[in-house]
Amino acid sequence: MKYHIHTYGCQMNVRESEAVAALLEAAGHVRAAGEAEAEILIVNSCTVRDMAERKAIGKCGNLCALKRDGRNWKGLPIVGLIGCAVTRLGEKVFDQLPHLDFAVGSRRYGLIPALVNRAAMGETRMLEISGPDEIPTGLDAHPQGLPAEGAPDVNFQAFVTILLGCDNRCSYCIVPDVRGHEYSRPAREVVEEVRGLVGRGVKEVCLLGQSVLRYGLRNKAWTADDAPSPGGYTEAFPRLLESLAAIPGLERIRFTSAHPKGCTDELVRAYREFPQVCRHLHLPVQSGSDRVLAEMGRHYTRAEYLAAVTKLRAFDPEFAVTTDVIVGYPGETTEDFEATRSLMDEAGFDNAFVFKYSPRPGTRSAALPDDVSTAEKERRDQVLLADQEVRGQARNEKLVGTVREVLVEGPSPRNPARWSGRDSGNRIVVFTPCEGIIKGQRVQVKITSARPQTLLGELA
Ligand code: SAH
Ligand code: SF4
Repeated sequence: MKYHIHTYGCQMNVRESEAVAALLEAAGHVRAAGEAEAEILIVNSCTVRDMAERKAIGKCGNLCALKRDGRNWKGLPIVGLIGCAVTRLGEKVFDQLPHLDFAVGSRRYGLIPALVNRAAMGETRMLEISGPDEIPTGLDAHPQGLPAEGAPDVNFQAFVTILLGCDNRCSYCIVPDVRGHEYSRPAREVVEEVRGLVGRGVKEVCLLGQSVLRYGLRNKAWTADDAPSPGGYTEAFPRLLESLAAIPGLERIRFTSAHPKGCTDELVRAYREFPQVCRHLHLPVQSGSDRVLAEMGRHYTRAEYLAAVTKLRAFDPEFAVTTDVIVGYPGETTEDFEATRSLMDEAGFDNAFVFKYSPRPGTRSAALPDDVSTAEKERRDQVLLADQEVRGQARNEKLVGTVREVLVEGPSPRNPARWSGRDSGNRIVVFTPCEGIIKGQRVQVKITSARPQTLLGELA
């Protein structure tokens, strides 16, 4: 059958949708050219904010409506909802989506091909939700459709999930409830997966987890059978970087997201020793006010956060640091907000994502009054975004005149006469001329001008 997957939310979801696609293909299904011709329709949902969940459920409702109207004699399409909203809603998902064939929470994606078969036999309203400690299934599947190495259109970037779940329990966050406890995939499994990807033309991997620097803390990622780290690394994450950096042909290693507690000297040593490890860290700060940080349960102070940034920039002044910020947390005063503003300036973020606080049922902060008005959240959001435009411009201008090593991603979406790629700091670099350039090629670009979120230049 032909399938189509619609994905909401984070990179973890993007990766999981890809794994589900690979599982469906292994079971004999094929990718549909578009939603309209699909016989299996899957929505991968997000629930981190209320609006995200509504969008996913709304989309799935529209797809179920197609089904109710009876698109063909078999009653197709089969419609499934997967991901974080399923775990949050449980059985209640069928109150909102009565015509849903299956609903699967994270960690049980390995069951999806079997559920599709059962749905094809007429079964409906099937629900699969894991416990918080379940070992996931199906996560290592990658689409086989990657072209051979050297082909002009190699898909050279891949996501690899290394850490599932989260044990941090920040007061506002529903992720630990819907993605369970931390589970670090065994290092050997991760290294094998990356080796396989590189063999199929992948040059850049991005390692995924809610808090990747906590890799191997809760459950051991290395067993007694694994050889000790040649470089003497004792922390599991830097040691994983060391093993991946030893894979020939792997040119870049990225990872996201990180918590400042994990910015250890060993991590900085790994950045220094392994040129493949990209000089960019997504380090969500959430707030610049110590009072709010304590209420959020983030386990660091403003000063500790800034010390982590200073450490990275001391090692490399061009090191790119990006962040997430929440505005309008319960009780956030104007002073708290101004503290966030000033922290963002001190940290000199290269990019920032700002989120308006949204209470999530069952989290600690949901018990507090959501007392910052929508208009005020919007105002704070706009202020931070405007600040970031100015800051991004200033930071990028400092790079004018430098030569950046860029891994080419393809024609620039805005102007196909130019091509674009990213530098080690994950900055988008748009360049000309582009005759004869191919995707995945490594080029040197001399930067001639800067915009808040983009660098422009010429091939050096
Ligand atoms: N694990 C990542 C974050 C995952 S959620 C980390 O901690 O680094 C992505 C972002 O969504 C968070 O960084 C936070 O800024 C935002 N977020 C999470 N819960 C939220 C809520 N209830 N309201 C608004 N934003 C939220
Ligand atoms: Fe949520 Fe905090 Fe875990 Fe990130 S670290 S997923 S914000 S609980």
